[in-house]
Amino acid sequence: MINDTIVAMATPNMMSSICVIRLSGDQAINIVNEVFTKDLSRVESHTIHYGYIKENDEKIDEVLVSVFRGPRSFTVEDVVEVSCHGGVIVSRKILNILLTHGARLANPGEFTQRAYLNGRIDMLEVEAINDLLQANNEKAVELAMSGLTRETTSLINQFKESLLEVIATIEVNIDYPEYDDVKVLSNQDVKDALLKFKQEIEHIIRNSKTSNIIKHGVKVAIVGLPNAGKSSLLNAFLEKDKAIVTDIAGTTRDVLEAEYLLNGINVIFLDTAGIRETDDVVEAIGIERAHSSIEEADLVLLVVDASKDKLDDFEEELINNNKDKVIIVLNKVDLGKNISVDGIEISALNNDISLLKNEMIDRLDLDISLKSDSLFLSNQRHLSLLNKINLSLDKALEAIEMQIPSDLVVSDIEEAYEYLQELLGNQYQDSLLDEMFSRFCLGK
Ligand code: GDP
Repeated sequence: MINDTIVAMATPNMMSSICVIRLSGDQAINIVNEVFTKDLSRVESHTIHYGYIKENDEKIDEVLVSVFRGPRSFTVEDVVEVSCHGGVIVSRKILNILLTHGARLANPGEFTQRAYLNGRIDMLEVEAINDLLQANNEKAVELAMSGLTRETTSLINQFKESLLEVIATIEVNIDYPEYDDVKVLSNQDVKDALLKFKQEIEHIIRNSKTSNIIKHGVKVAIVGLPNAGKSSLLNAFLEKDKAIVTDIAGTTRDVLEAEYLLNGINVIFLDTAGIRETDDVVEAIGIERAHSSIEEADLVLLVVDASKDKLDDFEEELINNNKDKVIIVLNKVDLGKNISVDGIEISALNNDISLLKNEMIDRLDLDISLKSDSLFLSNQRHLSLLNKINLSLDKALEAIEMQIPSDLVVSDIEEAYEYLQELLGNQYQDSLLDEMFSRFCLGK
């Protein structure tokens, strides 16, 4: 039941010059009024008031109080924000005062939950807000912000409407064959409609994959024989000595993870142990991990010592098994290039790696601007639902090809429709809702 008034710190619980404490609910204005030096009971919505928070006539802090009367507020309820002077002690003290005057401490994400339950935002927006809170680089913030637009939601709604129309028409055709007013859909009509629909879904899926890269970054494994220069390459990227560089074969014994910003995208480097046959147990474990890093990676940089004259079997094998994601990096070209293999020439030792950076940007398709095309879903759960919709449409199309009667085809289309509903949050079960909201920070 949403009828109590909640309160929480809206800013992080740490030293800062200003802290904001937020209240939402019927009693928000009354509660603050009881402890504020100015009368707020009749002030207009969207106004800011200067004064003091007081307790038993003692002034606690000089504050600004912003008043938003429902429904013109984030939660649709009355919302009051108290901006006080930073410092954990003062802000906690004010929070406690507000609690003793009848507010209840909000659960994580409860403000956003109220906004959702009161119809102020939809589920796609809820998750976009969550993404925004979690965003850790500039492009991800941009992405989460664009997720907040209603464009994607309205497109999904359009999809839903057009699918519903196809379903309804087929159903009427089946149930009331004599009913003249409804257009009879031929198999070809249904097929055309589904194909068009599928094309748009696939477009969103493609864009979403790009957006996922922006949000979560890409994993790049650095592999190669001992002494090829893997650690030196990682250091050249990071411009610091995170990996230990030595000339004793087999020194990088584990997988090092390091983050790097390439064209605004988070690159997570997996620097692996030199892969080779070994009797050393510790090194063998490292090598095993290197193999799994290769599988996990979006891109594999195979570092090869270019001063030798040919590739080893291991290198040949790795290239053949991972054709779509390997970049052959010919290192140590400062010593001259002897090997007759095509690859990107670098000198890790001299920090001469710009050709490699460009190649990585090309291969990972990182030269992306999502602003020009905002049709995407930035959330993994949404994306997997879109994929399910796509699969249901494939099943329906296949059934049409096989001349299966339309009453059977319609069940696949209905399945796609159900997934769309789920995507829009119309089928949320309570437990899922609670889980979604609890991922939020308190006060959001
Ligand atoms: P890893 O075992 O593959 O991690 O190789 P390291 O990065 O530890 O490098 C092995 C040796 O090769 C070290 O002595 C490095 O200084 C040397 N090295 C690495 N990159 C280059 C390079 O571009 N040019 C030259 N001349 N030496 C390099």
